Amino acid sequence: MKKPFITLEQAQKIIKEHPTPFHIYDEKGIRATARALNSAFSWNKGFHEYFAVKALPNPTILSILHEEGCGLDCSSYTELLLAKALGLNGKDIMFSSNVTPKEDYMLVHELGGIINLDDASDVEIVHDLFDLPETMSLRFNPGGYFAIGNDIMDNPEDAKYGMTKDQLVSSIKKMQEYGVKHFGIHSFLASNTLTNCYYPILAELLFKLIVDLRKETGADIAFVNLSGGIGIPYRPEDEENDICLIGEKVKEAYDKIIVPEGFDLSIYTELGRYMTGPHGALVATAVHEKKIYKDYIGLDACAVNLMRPAMYGAYHHITVLGKEDVPATVKYDVTGGLCENNDKFAIDRLLPKIELGDILYIHDTGAHGFSMGYNYNGKLRSAELLLTESGDVKLIRRAETPEDYFATIQGINGYNI
Ligand SMILES: *Cc1c(COP(=O)(O)O)cnc(C)c1O
Repeated sequence: MKKPFITLEQAQKIIKEHPTPFHIYDEKGIRATARALNSAFSWNKGFHEYFAVKALPNPTILSILHEEGCGLDCSSYTELLLAKALGLNGKDIMFSSNVTPKEDYMLVHELGGIINLDDASDVEIVHDLFDLPETMSLRFNPGGYFAIGNDIMDNPEDAKYGMTKDQLVSSIKKMQEYGVKHFGIHSFLASNTLTNCYYPILAELLFKLIVDLRKETGADIAFVNLSGGIGIPYRPEDEENDICLIGEKVKEAYDKIIVPEGFDLSIYTELGRYMTGPHGALVATAVHEKKIYKDYIGLDACAVNLMRPAMYGAYHHITVLGKEDVPATVKYDVTGGLCENNDKFAIDRLLPKIELGDILYIHDTGAHGFSMGYNYNGKLRSAELLLTESGDVKLIRRAETPEDYFATIQGINGYNI
């Protein structure tokens, strides 16, 4: 059973002030997850989570995570500006980008963040811009398939990210000549994994690589960045990852491979989905019912508010608030109003019978939800709310208005909206 973190009564009260649709986030849940992660890896002295900003780029959430000891993983100029606006700098910023504009490198350098190079050619590009900092990170792509047991998790050979092992070696050597003293190795090989083995297997692969790289280059490799990829149970039948066990299994690999080598290696992560995904929901109202060859429920939210179902066919669980105990006997497609037939939050989903005005709670939108929003069909981005630890609700981003939509348009001076 997936349980909403607000009740119908709470939702009705919130809606009086903040009409649907909106995303709402649960501060208590976010803090608890950050604490569980930090505790699972507390055996590693240098452990540091860099929250993947792209998952939930709201400054209020980012500062909550920073209070819990997390840094930020940025991938663009504007995400760096978010980190800057929050007063972060130095080792609290990881910059994991690709196809990177020069001004992005200039900004991360100004902020003193760690630069995680995606490509070997970036070494010269960055070297031409400024003296390389003492610490640099490199992203690894092992090629081939990435498998856990017999399950192929992903196909790195087809992924645009990272460097080959040979490129890592030559890039490290070149950067040593340029005065870089400490290095980190990063790799992201599978997304939304629902197995406690992903991090341990990735860690083992990277620990071995790091031992090799140290031998081949003599470089001080100071950290490994396991990046993102720990998943969340979107479906009611999915089993939740056990972060404590994941931490223990990574430690086993560390004890086996790194400890005998006699050096310290800090473990970094760049989790997004795992940190905030379950602690967000899109709340919308049923505003239309249509019966043709199927039964459709139309919401006041649409794919611009949550793109994952349309883009990846992703499952998001839906609870009709107040009908948690009513049997799910009616099969619906739950849609938005875009002129796009993939604008469906659910297809052939069994739900309790829905009346117009019912409030639907779409689960697990706390990562890659609001942030993937767009303005297709002139639809506007929703508000974002925070359910604080004390139970109050705070507006942390207002909904867009038509004025926002028109603000960037040129050549319609005097157009009266
Ligand atoms: C997207 C991304 C992450 C976060 O991924 P999740 O699946 O949300 O954990 C971390 N690092 C990099 C480089 C990414 O692109």
